[in-house]
Amino acid sequence: MPIAPPTARRLPAGRHLAHLILRLRRRALADAWRQLHHDRGGRVDLSAWVAPLAEAALPLYERWAAQGARDTARQLARGAVSRKAFLPARLPGPVFGFDVFNPRVVDALRDMAFYFARSTWDTCAASVELAWGSLRSELAAGLERGETLKRLGQRVRGIFDDPQKAAVIAQSEASRAVHAGELLAAQDSGVVRGKTWLVSGDACKLCLSLAALGEVPLDKPYIVQGHGPYAAVMHPPGHPSCMCSQTLVLS
Ligand SMILES: [Zn+2]
Repeated sequence: MPIAPPTARRLPAGRHLAHLILRLRRRALADAWRQLHHDRGGRVDLSAWVAPLAEAALPLYERWAAQGARDTARQLARGAVSRKAFLPARLPGPVFGFDVFNPRVVDALRDMAFYFARSTWDTCAASVELAWGSLRSELAAGLERGETLKRLGQRVRGIFDDPQKAAVIAQSEASRAVHAGELLAAQDSGVVRGKTWLVSGDACKLCLSLAALGEVPLDKPYIVQGHGPYAAVMHPPGHPSCMCSQTLVLS
């Protein structure tokens, strides 16, 4: 099983996205707080923030996907050299010309950016509602109102202003976009048969089991788990903070 600590270094840390997440979350915090005060039974709706976050994040996804596509081109070139074979004539077109204006790429990256933005705000809203729920039970238990509200404020601020969580999310998204670009370019090339999961040095049980699968057909998921757009794991990351990668298998 290939253990590849250097893999982690190849993946972008996603610092720009982390800053973006924090900046927009800090702005949305005031909105969430206002909604809590206009007593709507503790419901918080942050859907107005989905498009601004997704639109701002999209150029980053495009850059990372292009990096993934270049990585594919390099892997294919290396594979061809090691086999002393020539790459098919049509290869340089789709792979080296991989661009973010290709409708298939545009759709995939837009979907990714919007799903990321929606799940970010859904998570924030759910956490605020949870904090509000526990406040209500504290008030019902007779705790002092002023003190309880102060703690609610701190908890809500902590939900939105969490640099560490933003960094983890951003790193996962960067990995997702790089590997999606890699996969799209591999599919376009027509010369990639499959893929193998390449675990990072600190890989978890799940990722070790994905690597143990060996070669997986290019268009098949490594595993299907849970629900939502990422239930079918087509490429790393396998989970938040996953630093794994994959290698392509030429046909
Ligand atoms: Zn992993």
